[in-house]
Amino acid sequence: MRFRTKQVHAGVTPDPTTGAILTPIHQSTTFVQPSIDEYMSTGYSYSRSGNPTVRALEEKLTELEEGADTAAFTTGMAATNAVMLALLNAGDHAVVSDVVYGGTHRLATQVYRRFGVEYSFVDTSDPANVAAALRDTTRLVFTETPANPTLKLTDIAAVSEIARAHGIPHAVDNTFLTPYYQRPLALGADLVVYSTTKYFDGHNATVGGAVVSGSAELYERITFVRNATGTIMSPQVAWLTMQGSKTLSERLDRQSANAMEIARFLEAHPKVTRVGYPGLASFPQHDLAARQASGFGAMVWFEVEGGLEAGKRLMDSVELWTLAENLGSVESLITHPVTMTHAGIDREERLRVGISDGLVRLSVGLEDVEDLVEDLAQALDRV
Ligand code: PLP
Repeated sequence: MRFRTKQVHAGVTPDPTTGAILTPIHQSTTFVQPSIDEYMSTGYSYSRSGNPTVRALEEKLTELEEGADTAAFTTGMAATNAVMLALLNAGDHAVVSDVVYGGTHRLATQVYRRFGVEYSFVDTSDPANVAAALRDTTRLVFTETPANPTLKLTDIAAVSEIARAHGIPHAVDNTFLTPYYQRPLALGADLVVYSTTKYFDGHNATVGGAVVSGSAELYERITFVRNATGTIMSPQVAWLTMQGSKTLSERLDRQSANAMEIARFLEAHPKVTRVGYPGLASFPQHDLAARQASGFGAMVWFEVEGGLEAGKRLMDSVELWTLAENLGSVESLITHPVTMTHAGIDREERLRVGISDGLVRLSVGLEDVEDLVEDLAQALDRV
């Protein structure tokens, strides 16, 4: 089956007792066992270990990603945490992209470092930097591409090849593009991490996460820590995420087309000093974006003349755009990473990797693009 067919049907079978076309929300803590000898004969025992509604979403994601299996989590951070917990021990070392979601950076530096795990944050846009950072103790390469918020790209195939040559798993946070546009496993990665909160849900309704594994062995390690730490997605969230996922491609195509128009508008605006969007020919890694993904996504960033103060005025002046954290929803959102999503990162480190004080991040939604552009234009007039 092709992608659009799978996104509607994969994982979903009409309920055998009622014929309900939608997978029911199995809101149940426990599952009755027919007898001691038949323990787990239905596949379920207790909803911390597994739940049929969550399983339906996991099956859909596995098919969309063409992976071995999927584990769904309470949040995207729980998914990232499960990868680190499954693969890293005290004294081990991990290589992580120097631009990642702020929460990933915080988890590594403020939690795992306390337990003796070492991290190198490297510019993974050059695969040679990954090779140079590897140590005898390296047990994980974790990249995010496109990275939040600068959209810096990592060549997934090149980094996967380096990791594989050293027997180190490569995990890719693919939240910004989803399997509709980019499939890290097919490019050689071992694990794919998602905040399903973003494009899979798409409606600002839930927080959730998932890890798609390229092998049954990795899946076992991931689900072991999920059960041990109690971070499985809830059935209500799985059900909502399942409904959102059915329109993933249509939303992404429309939102990405809107993003391209907005990026072009910003690039031509005299008050805008810099714009980042992988679909623009001016984007430094435009060729890599076109090569490893089938779409450019719906995230854009820009800076306005006048820096931080001007950027703040702009964000306070928009009317249709909503000032909020999150991304990937049908609602267009405007975010200031420095005070919101990446506040925990040292200023010096932020500036070094290109997250400037005045950087404005846009998550382009599904509204009419003319309305979105007009609102940005009036806000820029007030700067
Ligand atoms: N990965 C990326 C790229 C993100 O942008 C986010 C959240 O913003 C996360 C992971 C964490 O996801 P969640 O907020 O669902 O925990």
